[in-house]
Amino acid sequence: MPHSTAAAYEALIQFLYRAPIGLVQSTLDGEITMINPCSARLLMPLAPHGDLSNLFDVLQPVAPQLRSLVTAAVESDAVVCDGLRLSLPASPRLAGGTTTTIEISLQRLNKQSLLMSIADITLSVHNEQQRLADSLRSATRVDALTRLPTRTVALEHIACALELARCDPQYEFAVLFINCDRFNAVNLSLGAEAGDALLQRIAARINGTVRRRDTVAIGSSNGSSDGSSDGSSEGSIAARLGGDEFVVVLTSLARRADAVTVAQRLAETLDLPYPYGDQSVHVAGSIGVVTREQAAPSAEAVLQDASLAMREAKAAGGARYCLFASAITERARHRGVIERELRVALAARQLFVVYQPIVELAAGAASPESADPNDRSFIDGPLRVTGVEALVRWKHPQRGVVPPIEFIEIAEQTGLIGALGEFVLDESCRQFMAWQRTLGPAAPWTLSVNLSRAQLQDAGIIAQVQDALHRHGLAPERLQLEVTESLAAQDQSIQVRLQELRALGLKLALDDFGTGYSSLACLHLLPVDVLKIDRSFVCQAETSAHHRVLIDTTVRVARSLHMQVVAEGVETPGQAQILAALDCDKGQGYLFARPMTAADATAWLQLRFDETTTALAA
Ligand code: C2E
Ligand code: CA
Ligand code: CA
Repeated sequence: MPHSTAAAYEALIQFLYRAPIGLVQSTLDGEITMINPCSARLLMPLAPHGDLSNLFDVLQPVAPQLRSLVTAAVESDAVVCDGLRLSLPASPRLAGGTTTTIEISLQRLNKQSLLMSIADITLSVHNEQQRLADSLRSATRVDALTRLPTRTVALEHIACALELARCDPQYEFAVLFINCDRFNAVNLSLGAEAGDALLQRIAARINGTVRRRDTVAIGSSNGSSDGSSDGSSEGSIAARLGGDEFVVVLTSLARRADAVTVAQRLAETLDLPYPYGDQSVHVAGSIGVVTREQAAPSAEAVLQDASLAMREAKAAGGARYCLFASAITERARHRGVIERELRVALAARQLFVVYQPIVELAAGAASPESADPNDRSFIDGPLRVTGVEALVRWKHPQRGVVPPIEFIEIAEQTGLIGALGEFVLDESCRQFMAWQRTLGPAAPWTLSVNLSRAQLQDAGIIAQVQDALHRHGLAPERLQLEVTESLAAQDQSIQVRLQELRALGLKLALDDFGTGYSSLACLHLLPVDVLKIDRSFVCQAETSAHHRVLIDTTVRVARSLHMQVVAEGVETPGQAQILAALDCDKGQGYLFARPMTAADATAWLQLRFDETTTALAA
């Protein structure tokens, strides 16, 4: 070989050897005849014993279809597959391992051999996810209708004010919760479009009042604190919470009394009529005010308290404000009563568990757009039940059945949640195993039980769960514990506890996804197997394209992290169709079944199973 040809040949070999793209040549049976280092590196995680002799064997776990695709491609230069994306198994998610994604193309080179190219697209997949997550994040920060900041942003501002108040005893702030009076009636009579336009005008008025430069005096270094000071209300915001509810967060107030001045001015401004054609519309506002002095320690609680005060303003006739201080005593009294009664309830076995089925959303519309709201095949056709969620109830001797929203939080604050949670876990495991014995194949496959914040803060929870599994003979993989999104994203100790629970072999679900703080971008950091999309997203699936996009994005990200997705609060056939079309695995909601007592659930499970087997046999 002439010298220059040899050099060129060597250069070509080096070029192929160092190329950042994987190349593999094999026989039609997959026996590898040539492989470059990049391919070897990318394929190695699939070859547990380092055996890279047969391409099909190596790729079997992720692309079992390759062999038959090759057989089908008869032309000697046929493309077998082009740009097939494969996720390679990762080392456990939290040990810092990331999933590698590759894209392969396979082609017949001639009658005897195949050529595969392999590209590592992990980074671009990651960037794509990040981009989706970013767009979701911005969508959750600006209200689409009014362009005001959202609840998420308002909560951040309140949290920030609380923090400043902790550091500075002089710091004053206030939270004003606004609910429009009789907005629904106006909305109904004008129509939704005019209602939306009205909300925009209300938002503009609220925002204008907060933004007025003389709205409030700012505690400034020159000490000017009279109402006419020219300090801008920097940092104060107006946000929309949803529907006809808004919140104003006033920060850096010079005087506590300024909160009242603004509340009064807001009430007056909102009370003015809105010109509408040649008529006018009147929608006033009820405002609840929490100032620093009465502020609870968390942003959520402050907002909740402000909404309580708002209710008082409304009850007093509306078009006014009410300070939280007057509502607080009533609430404290109420809590005291509930706490005392709940102690009795635990001892007297007044608590019981109801069960709501979780079903598969298998068949669906081809696309969200072609969903037919009148197609009832979802509920009337075969329904595969995959599990049940246990939900606690309190049979109060005087008040009848009390929903958990009225006592879970109080149970958490008073330490009663430990005993309550233990009861629910024990009772639901017992019932679940009873179903396995009596219902056989009609029994639910998984049991979901809710865990609250306080339960996770207690190290004893691990032993408690382990003990319940053991006592009832329940296989760990059949139990799913549900924690809320904001909770799972919290501090390190909670994360560790979640890891420990998961190490028992059970599944973890992220409850109320979409309402909390963690964004899609950090989902991969949470040790969860299932994502439950919150009802507030599901209930808008039919009416809001925006919410459909959010659901779609969430499902995609969950898919890429190998998580299952359950939609909560499915109420209409249309919603179920859209969710199925968006590739959501499972659904839970009144459409399928309400939460039922154990006896009712037993009958329901049996009936559904019989109907489904009959339908499938037909
Ligand atoms: P969650 O875990 O999000 O439970 C789902 C809630 O949505 C249940 O309310 C259920 O009845 C309701 N729901 C289900 N389908 C629909 C629907 O189609 N439409 C509507 N509007 N609602 C639907 P529930 O039973 O009142 O429970 C409320 C919350 O209380 C639960 O929310 C959970 O966070 C908490 N909770 C319930 N039981 C327990 C428990 O045993 N322990 C703890 N820690 N928390 C519990
Ligand atoms: Ca739940
Ligand atoms: Ca939920």
